[in-house]
Amino acid sequence: MLKSRFIKRFRVEPGSNVNLRDFDTDWAETKDAKQLGKDEIKDRAIKVLEENKQHLAESQELIAASNTHSVLLIFQAMDAAGKDGTIRHVMSGVNPQGCQVFSFKKPSAEERDHNFLWRYMKSLPERGRFGIFNRSYYEDVLVVKVHPEFLDTQIPSGEKAKKFWKGRYDDINNFERHLVRNGTIVLKFFLHVSKREQRRRFLERLTDPSKYWKFSVSDMEERRYWKEYQECFEDALSATSTEWAPWYVIPADRKYVTRALVADIIVKAVKDMDLEYPKPSKEDLKRFEIARVELEKEEGGKKGRSKNGKKAKGKSKSAGKKAKSATKSAAAEATPKPIGDTVSDGAPA
Ligand code: ATP
Ligand code: MG
Repeated sequence: MLKSRFIKRFRVEPGSNVNLRDFDTDWAETKDAKQLGKDEIKDRAIKVLEENKQHLAESQELIAASNTHSVLLIFQAMDAAGKDGTIRHVMSGVNPQGCQVFSFKKPSAEERDHNFLWRYMKSLPERGRFGIFNRSYYEDVLVVKVHPEFLDTQIPSGEKAKKFWKGRYDDINNFERHLVRNGTIVLKFFLHVSKREQRRRFLERLTDPSKYWKFSVSDMEERRYWKEYQECFEDALSATSTEWAPWYVIPADRKYVTRALVADIIVKAVKDMDLEYPKPSKEDLKRFEIARVELEKEEGGKKGRSKNGKKAKGKSKSAGKKAKSATKSAAAEATPKPIGDTVSDGAPA
């Protein structure tokens, strides 16, 4: 795992005024990194990602077993910044049953007829699971701010506009506060790609026929609003990076750096929760003992029969007796109950 001190530089300090120029898009170009050399960084990043994939699988098992919390991962970025690839790589070691990805596109008419958080609320992860939002309610203060014509209501202007967007940031902060209070860890990643690198990736998509499908004309249209988007990101990051749901600005010009950092931040956040596997109660242990003895008896019973179905003599007979008496004494102490009912169901912290 990477040092917390190192990771801190990518975290947006709550209450700070974000200027995206203060954040690197290509970490390998910084002074510290140059000393290491690009090959060394790549090797290290790949190693960190591999280690963290293993840790993530364990974290997910712990989240599922403790069943007191969920994790919501939010990814926002300009097109071609690598959201899809990061999600795919970082979550590749995780049990698919414990995680769900939602990709949010333009809202439907029904969605537009509700409050702006409605469609996201319906997709939140259940306790014990990871939920990934590939784009999220932040679109409602990003693309919608760049293109206010998306709003069904009157386009706000001047002071009214300021109040309108501030209202949305407040709603988001309160919503996330509510989630965190109810046991959801909220981590938000802005994949910070440079305009130059986006151009390179778009050109790659337009020159390699196997990548044509990744390009859409609207990507080019949105690129023309680069400056407006960067400003909206700065406003949103400044207003909504909180102690309970911080933003991380992740350098996205090199995919291996992006993936290693994201994986590391998730693993650390889960580790900091100090979750524990549920401890069985005395009653549980008694029931487990009954089940164990009963299962051993089954095996003893099988062994105790010869091929022609006759009972064999000796060892297996006494093992059977022992099992029977253990079952009896344990059964006398505990009222049998289905084992599935015995694991305690903790309430969210
Ligand atoms: P990819 O291009 O890798 O498939 P993507 O996330 O860019 O992934 P697209 O279908 O290309 O998916 O784009 C989705 C579009 O939907 C984006 O332009 C985004 O800004 C837009 N969108 C998402 N949420 C909203 C919203 N609430 N209001 C308006 N537009 C939205
Ligand atoms: Mg797209």
